[in-house]
Amino acid sequence: MPSAPQNLTLPIYLDHAATTPCDPRVVEAMLPYFTTIFGNPGSRNHRFGWEAEAGVDKARAQVAELIKADEKEIIFTSGATESNNLALRGAALMYEKNPQGSGKPRGHIISCIIEHKAVLDPCKRLQKEGFDVTFLEPPRDGVLTAEMVKAALRDDTILVSIMWANNEIGTINDIRAIGELCKSRDIIFHTDATQWFGKMPIDAYADNVDLMSFSGHKIYGPKGVGGLFVRRKRPRVRLTPLVDGGGQERGFRSGTLNVSGIVGLGKAAELAGREMSADAIRLGKLRKKLEDSITSRLDTCAINGNRDKRLPHITNISFGFVEGESLMMAVKEIACSSGSACTSASLEPSYVLKGLGVGDDLAHSSLRLSLGRWTTEQEVDYTIEKIVAAVKKLRDLSPLYDMHKEGIDLSKVEWAHH
Ligand SMILES: *Cc1c(COP(=O)(O)O)cnc(C)c1O
Repeated sequence: MPSAPQNLTLPIYLDHAATTPCDPRVVEAMLPYFTTIFGNPGSRNHRFGWEAEAGVDKARAQVAELIKADEKEIIFTSGATESNNLALRGAALMYEKNPQGSGKPRGHIISCIIEHKAVLDPCKRLQKEGFDVTFLEPPRDGVLTAEMVKAALRDDTILVSIMWANNEIGTINDIRAIGELCKSRDIIFHTDATQWFGKMPIDAYADNVDLMSFSGHKIYGPKGVGGLFVRRKRPRVRLTPLVDGGGQERGFRSGTLNVSGIVGLGKAAELAGREMSADAIRLGKLRKKLEDSITSRLDTCAINGNRDKRLPHITNISFGFVEGESLMMAVKEIACSSGSACTSASLEPSYVLKGLGVGDDLAHSSLRLSLGRWTTEQEVDYTIEKIVAAVKKLRDLSPLYDMHKEGIDLSKVEWAHH
């Protein structure tokens, strides 16, 4: 077993799609807001309040600039989960066609089976409460097109929610085209942009989004803070709030603001604007090395999702003829995600990979590796060696793999060819 080079610390973090470390520059910006600038931005009568409010205002401007929106269009929340709930439930209740209990569908909503649970579960609750929801099934490459959305539209469609980039496979949907379609039919369009925001450019109006969720901790900011873009012109989007109280955030989201968190999100957004293109180029090269090395040294592995329409820092690879749990055990020095989701009793294969048509076994033996701002080439090199060695070792023990090599056709999977 190769040991780690001197200046490499283990485990190696390759799970940036799950969360990112806070950038030290973000922490530095936040610190004064815990102690000296501790006021409540809602306190209008003294300096403590004004200073806290100034911090929030600056953060709002930083976020707005990143997505080319107006400051008034940014609503701060506790994270993308809350933003998604506010967008979906808030819009559904505001734009419903028929009242609850009328016996008629309250309205039709379109989403997709490979969305994050923070979109799927609010949609399912709305479904129980009398809305009709269509969950589109993506093609094998995971990319939904405007045509697929168009085919599902109905006269009573009130809301479409399609994610910008998928968190498990990194695939990118054509948000601008889907938004344009919705606009032409006066349908509210929400996108969960959590994986895209701060990594790739956004022009909220040109991209035709009405509602857009994002999160601090996926972009080197703090956890527990995020936001929702709520469009104010053509159309002016209205929402029924989920939380009532002091009327903060234009009444969309009551509650004393998480000032330090918001300041951190603002700083993270500013840094993202400056550094995203260099980060994307560097990480794209590292991912290419990772994928090319693995697929050239191992047969029967498949890269999940469209190879081109994909974020540059995420890869999701299935390894044929290895058992998922053994694979995770064998690469435990690499902190990454597997294609298995822990539910209470058992390991379920990832619903996203299943949604693409990947079989259960192959979904279990998949790894999502997601690179980040401080991922080094040395870490990638070490990861390649680890994974290649682990998969080879596990396959040495596999009678099925022997049969496969002897040319016995065991599956209809198309393996990646280098
Ligand atoms: C992480 C993530 C979320 C949840 O964000 P939180 O801020 O942790 O609530 C929602 N959607 C996507 C696509 C994500 O990647």
